[in-house]
Amino acid sequence: MLPYVNSERLRLSPSRVSEFENCPQLYKYRVIDQLPQPPSLDAERGTLVHTVLHDLFESPASERTPQTALDLLPSRWKAQMENKPELLEMVTNEKEWLDRASALLQTYFTLEDPQKFEATHRELHLENDFSEKIYLHGYVDRLDVAPTGEVRIIDYKTGKAPKPGWEEKSLFQLRVYALLYFKMNNVLPRILQLIYLGDAKVIKSTPTLSDLAATEKTLERVAKDIFASIDKDYWPPKPSRLCDWCFFKPICPAHNV
Ligand code: SF4
Repeated sequence: MLPYVNSERLRLSPSRVSEFENCPQLYKYRVIDQLPQPPSLDAERGTLVHTVLHDLFESPASERTPQTALDLLPSRWKAQMENKPELLEMVTNEKEWLDRASALLQTYFTLEDPQKFEATHRELHLENDFSEKIYLHGYVDRLDVAPTGEVRIIDYKTGKAPKPGWEEKSLFQLRVYALLYFKMNNVLPRILQLIYLGDAKVIKSTPTLSDLAATEKTLERVAKDIFASIDKDYWPPKPSRLCDWCFFKPICPAHNV
């Protein structure tokens, strides 16, 4: 993805913000240099489960059962492999791979009953000309509008919920979506909901206008920091436990002195 819409505008999304906050050097490799990266198995499993949960809502409410979700799995996996043939080599034990995805889908049904509501939007693209220099956007897994008009924004995670005390950080992504929705529709979403399929937990929050104002300030601050990094070509590595999963570790200055 290009870092700019044009030569002057920064393209910002919640994931790009977290990436820069976690490690400016990693942001540079991915966004500025656009270095290629092999697919990650965890991310690919996440994509597969997200696809099934997306397509589940194509069925009428009465058919949105665990069995329907499991029946969707093989065809969606086949399509994903056709799209990315390298997965064929990466997934050495297909049965184990599909069993893990099935378990995550079964966990989903312990947290929500998709027969009881309609998903108004899935994979909804929200965007906003945040400022002259910033284009802000993001993709929402699901956004439900209740008959009362109340809006709920949902994001599925295939990993585990954050430890107590870290929930606020994980809600940042959904607050950005709430801000975008508010800017586009002048409606403040009622509920933000993170569904963690890795350990069957749900984090819910009711956003306020002051939450959105604080989110806006964070976005402005991070954008300012990114512009400063671009100006100075200064991308300090920020070593953390994320380094153990970082594809760029072999070329990262923090690990190659
Ligand atoms: S190895 Fe660590 S410090 Fe280096 S780019 Fe990756 S995340 Fe950043």
